[in-house]
Amino acid sequence: MVIMTRAGMPRARVDALRERIERRGLRTHVVYRDTRTVVACAGDASGADVDAWRADPDVESVASWSRPYRLVSRDAAGSSHTTPIRIGSAPDAVVGGAALVMIAGPCSVERLDLLRDAACGVRRGGATALRGGAFKPRTSPYAFQGMGVEGLELLAQVRRETGLPVVTEVMDTRHVDVVAEYADVLQVGARNMQNYALLAELGRIGRPVLLKRGLAAPISEFLLAAEHIMARGNADVILCERGIRTFETSTRFTLDIAAIPVLRRETHLPVIVDPSHAAGDAALVPALSFAAIAAGADGLMVEVHAQPELSKSDREQALTLTEFDALMRAATPIAAAIGRRMPAARPAQMMPAAHGAI
Ligand code: PEP
Ligand code: MN
Repeated sequence: MVIMTRAGMPRARVDALRERIERRGLRTHVVYRDTRTVVACAGDASGADVDAWRADPDVESVASWSRPYRLVSRDAAGSSHTTPIRIGSAPDAVVGGAALVMIAGPCSVERLDLLRDAACGVRRGGATALRGGAFKPRTSPYAFQGMGVEGLELLAQVRRETGLPVVTEVMDTRHVDVVAEYADVLQVGARNMQNYALLAELGRIGRPVLLKRGLAAPISEFLLAAEHIMARGNADVILCERGIRTFETSTRFTLDIAAIPVLRRETHLPVIVDPSHAAGDAALVPALSFAAIAAGADGLMVEVHAQPELSKSDREQALTLTEFDALMRAATPIAAAIGRRMPAARPAQMMPAAHGAI
């Protein structure tokens, strides 16, 4: 059972409602939205009198669910709309709005000048946010593991210079607070999608989380991972399809395009697509991006490098800045065909001075 309260209800009334529900032997999890509160009830609801709860003066609507996830489910939103999640202060920095979001930048933070060049370039091309890993999950322990906190410092500096919000990965519960200090959006990588201790920690922070689908996770497990974050109190979860492991070896992973409409049906959370890790090859990234937009994604996260040949990780899949610009232009009519729009390129005169603070 998922209960939506009436608009503008004070917390004391929400608490009293929870108490009434819990007296019936159910547990409650609460998510505070703009004006309404969603109360997900867990436990044996078979004896719950749904009509009686519907008649409660504090209750706007009651949905009974048939799925294992509750707060993430479309039922919990009480509408067919995607819940918009703000990731920065610019008008278009909203995932799930009319404009698609473009999160672009290098795989990893490596050097201030390279990060700055990538950020200025993608910003000019219309990017909404800058990506870059400071803590890197690498298959080999001998590969570059990221710059850690020093990398977070560089991201913060480039954000000051460009105004772009920063999306960066957190791998470890011990780093959640320090990453949240620097990042606008905390990314959970595919390999950590089922790190429940990490998801729980991210439930208590006041920053949006970008949750990537696990390499071998069915959509139901992906949604339950998001539920772990929401059940701890963080309502701002963005889902990211990034390819799954199949028998196919001609791409790094297999981009599951069908996941986009399936997720749209199942959840009110916004969904973006990472074509770079799915493809593993820069030449394939535009086609996968177009397919994702056409299938209804709310945005893309793409790896872009100022000088891909210097990249310390995922070199083969990094777009150059010129390729990024071309992708943005070519995607424009595709977005328009389904009633969305790409974020607009910014003329050079709108750019803040490269070395000045914003
Ligand atoms: C990344 O986006 O930097 C990354 C490591 O991706 P994934 O977790 O999807 O492999
Ligand atoms: Mn990468």
